[in-house]
Amino acid sequence: MKKLKSDEYFFSFSASNEPVLTVNSGSVVEIETMDCFSNQIKDISNAFEKFDWSKVNPATGPIYVEEAEPLDTLKVEILDISVSKMGIMVSGEDEGVLGHLLKGLKVKMIPIKDDLAVFDEKLSIPLNKMIGVIGVAPSLEKGDVMCGSPGSHGGNMDNLMITSGATLFLPIFVKGALFGLGDLHAAMGDGEIGVTGVEVSGSVKVRLEVVKKIKIDDPLLLNDRNFTTIASSETIDAAISKATENMAAMLKDKLPLSMHEIAMLLSAVGHAQVCQVVDPLKTARFVMPMDVLKAYDFELID
Ligand code: CA
Ligand code: ZN
Repeated sequence: MKKLKSDEYFFSFSASNEPVLTVNSGSVVEIETMDCFSNQIKDISNAFEKFDWSKVNPATGPIYVEEAEPLDTLKVEILDISVSKMGIMVSGEDEGVLGHLLKGLKVKMIPIKDDLAVFDEKLSIPLNKMIGVIGVAPSLEKGDVMCGSPGSHGGNMDNLMITSGATLFLPIFVKGALFGLGDLHAAMGDGEIGVTGVEVSGSVKVRLEVVKKIKIDDPLLLNDRNFTTIASSETIDAAISKATENMAAMLKDKLPLSMHEIAMLLSAVGHAQVCQVVDPLKTARFVMPMDVLKAYDFELID
């Protein structure tokens, strides 16, 4: 298995980033990541005194995947996520949904013990280890996208379903895909309303596989129970609409149903959900239970 250390990182997904590792399609890679503050915060005293704000949201990589060409799809199986023993949360004035109620900037260290995040002496939170930033290089025409932003290429989607056991599908825009990930969270709720999850460094095992000649426009996710579209836009309303339309378009293509019936089906059993509302673009997902789709012999890739 190939390994990538967290000292090979970038701050923007870009077609012009030099790959730091090349793998064949189908390879498993273990990728170490720094936390979203580039491991600059060691304790709560003077945490931001010498803090370099240009060094946030590093993604480890990029990884060049052989055979990946524009218009193919990159299948990313998330095999395992392990996180460090200390988590960090930050909240601040004018940051996130409650920022107008806050003064100054606060840091909280959250020890991780026995698969629990210790919030205080009264409360330990069960871990829900997930990947905040994961994506590929956007097209040359689109230009660089900083790792703090989500988009069609993936990026800072902060979707708590991007976790072990899930398979993420990303559109490929450039040769080799130039894959990277970072911004692990030991726990995060939908919305990430305070701008951080329980931020941790750690490592992720993924299998990277090129699916030839299947073109998608936005990320998709499969797990044991659900098939999900993911979309990002200027507002959460627009992101929800885009994720829902993407789901409807995929099902129109694959199920023997009219658009009226698809609207009814999505309305009866589908879930429009919020991923995050605090990044430069907002991210939503539309979740369909696989049990429902199996009634129509749905296969994502056939
Ligand atoms: Ca994030
Ligand atoms: Zn984060």
